[in-house]
Amino acid sequence: MQQLIALDNAHVWHPYSAIGADLPIFPVISANGVYLKLTDGRELIDGMSSWWSAIHGYNHPLMNAALQAQIEKMSHVMFGGLTHEPAVTLATRLIELTPAPLQTVFFSDSGSVAVEVAMKMAIQYWHAKGHPAKQRFLTLRNGYHGDTFGAMSVCDPVTGMHSLFSDVLTQQYFVDAPTCRFGEMSGDDEIAPLKQQLMQHGANIAAIILEPIVQATGGMNFYAADYLRRVRALCDEFGLLLICDEIATGFARTGKMFACEHAAISPDIICVGKALTGGYLTLAATLTTVEISAMISNGEPGLFMHGPTFMANPLACSAALASLKLLTESDWSSNISRIESGLKGGLAPCRELASVADVRVLGGIGVVELMQPVDMKTIQPLFVEQGVWVRPFGKLVYLMPPYLISDHDLAALTAAVVKVVESS
Ligand SMILES: *Cc1c(COP(=O)(O)O)cnc(C)c1O
Repeated sequence: MQQLIALDNAHVWHPYSAIGADLPIFPVISANGVYLKLTDGRELIDGMSSWWSAIHGYNHPLMNAALQAQIEKMSHVMFGGLTHEPAVTLATRLIELTPAPLQTVFFSDSGSVAVEVAMKMAIQYWHAKGHPAKQRFLTLRNGYHGDTFGAMSVCDPVTGMHSLFSDVLTQQYFVDAPTCRFGEMSGDDEIAPLKQQLMQHGANIAAIILEPIVQATGGMNFYAADYLRRVRALCDEFGLLLICDEIATGFARTGKMFACEHAAISPDIICVGKALTGGYLTLAATLTTVEISAMISNGEPGLFMHGPTFMANPLACSAALASLKLLTESDWSSNISRIESGLKGGLAPCRELASVADVRVLGGIGVVELMQPVDMKTIQPLFVEQGVWVRPFGKLVYLMPPYLISDHDLAALTAAVVKVVESS
């Protein structure tokens, strides 16, 4: 085992990592239900759903069966000139589940690419419509939309290190993230900077892109539905497109199937990923309206300029179909309420701690915001010693467990967070 860790440390990059940093790393041998099993035999309750994705936990018999059945038929075929039932059925299901105006589906392999696709769709739409100057995007600070160059250009400029990549990143327009909390109303003054940017730069702007209701990786900010409603209204007033990046929030995580439903709005383009395949395989999708698809398809150059090699991979589509079946045939709404209550009750003791700035919960997401950034080197092993898998970043210790977590395991998970936060 020491050898595996040494080789990993010397040769293998991890997300946002440094080679040779010698930070604690834990080899996993298997995973089942909500438990991750380490090679030394320890079992950890998963508080992260492998970054929002494994909503039905691990090694799920129905998910496994769906994938095994698909492997017997075909694992992959190219999507240029060929089609298949898993892709078409999945597209139909996504159209049914997302807000009504979204009627066409572009499949890609990761969330970042789904965002690139959304941005290209917006630019091509305006180009075909005779507004080629509309190539820029307006977005919120503290956002996160992925790690490829287009997606990076709309991530928070500070945490996304825009100055480091200044010669290759498109300069976009930013406004401060809303401070009005979820459940509150948002005042005219809160939306004013966004309106100001639109008045000044609207002629160059193709779309507003944002994470609806929950700014996830950029700070776990839960903001007012009213703010999102006002953004939608401004997009209509200025004739701009709205792109909702639901890659983290989609598939019931916030208590609605999609977070934009909290504001009862519909975007012109939506991006989904992460939980789409229940965490089994990498797959993402970008959906848009018939108006936008038709404009792109009928205008110059008459094609949408994107086509991944592994587009609509049949195995990934089958995993997504099985995951959506499990989700939609369950009483997911009451279940997320159950998790929400468990997170609220279980994390409440953190409010009393001097090291804690805020505790907030929305749907299946629980956040403990600390006064100071955590020290990963010391805090990560503490969670493992408590028998849980929690991966904080910066000042945020947060949980988004698989939906099938029991009340008992949820209580153990939150108790471990209280204990570690208390002792660190
Ligand atoms: C994770 C995430 C992405 C990027 O998805 P990848 O699959 O990691 O490329 C984009 N947008 C949001 C909101 C995300 O949470």
